[in-house]
Amino acid sequence: MLIGHKVQHNAAALRTALLGKKMVRFEAPHMDSIMPQVGRTIEEVRNLDKSIEIIWDNGIVLNTRMKISSSWDVYRNGVEWRKDAAKADVLIDVQDWVAVCFNTPEIDVYHDFDPRRHPILGKLGPDLTLVDADIEEAVDRMMEYEERDETVADVLLDQRVVRGVSNVFRCEILWACEMHPWANIGTLKRAECRELLTLAHEMLQNADASSDNLAIYGRQGKSCARCGDVVKVNHHGEANRVLYWCAGCQTTHEPLVRPNFTPLYIERDASMGDSHPAAKQFMNEIISLRDVG
Ligand SMILES: [Zn+2]
Repeated sequence: MLIGHKVQHNAAALRTALLGKKMVRFEAPHMDSIMPQVGRTIEEVRNLDKSIEIIWDNGIVLNTRMKISSSWDVYRNGVEWRKDAAKADVLIDVQDWVAVCFNTPEIDVYHDFDPRRHPILGKLGPDLTLVDADIEEAVDRMMEYEERDETVADVLLDQRVVRGVSNVFRCEILWACEMHPWANIGTLKRAECRELLTLAHEMLQNADASSDNLAIYGRQGKSCARCGDVVKVNHHGEANRVLYWCAGCQTTHEPLVRPNFTPLYIERDASMGDSHPAAKQFMNEIISLRDVG
């Protein structure tokens, strides 16, 4: 098998097994850099030219280089492996599936580049994971946001406004408030900023990112629980994070001009049994999105 085909094939299997799942175990015996954290959700699998990238919801990226003898194998938990477990370079366990990388010449882990996540650029906003977080302070920061045409989806991840909002909850909060993710921050009224942030604070206090409790995150191609429209997924913003949303009901402050799309690597391999009736529709949508980009 050619290396390009192998990378594509392995990445498709990883998507089916891992996307939207919470990681329960991570092992990489030869790795000495930052580690992906247990409890974090796997958000995306990208296949590049000769490597595969796995991205978690806190922006951590694991890049494994692939050569002809390398592989990412996916096993249902409890099933016997085809290869020697002692030779595994990386192991990612999501409870029902385990993904194992063998014989990679190079592993690299880094934080997805987002200049605003770096505190040197300004004072940090209130941390919404804390019970006594100062919501009004965060509202002030949102109202005074310098770039008035920045999208609300991006501002929620800006550490100078507010901290602690993971990508999973960013999607959930916007859906709950029926807010268009690309609404320009300058169009939001103070009461709307307060509603978003108060809800974010409540959600983060009861944070449980298991997929059963999520209304929109990870539900691409399925019906929106509120309006029945098909849930979409896009890349968005400077950090290029995955964004799940519903065009049917998230219409508040819908902008006239939409930002550009970038390619998505989130579809699953149909041969591995994604039999959901909406899967096909989702695939069609992905193709039309790519045409736009
Ligand atoms: Zn909807």
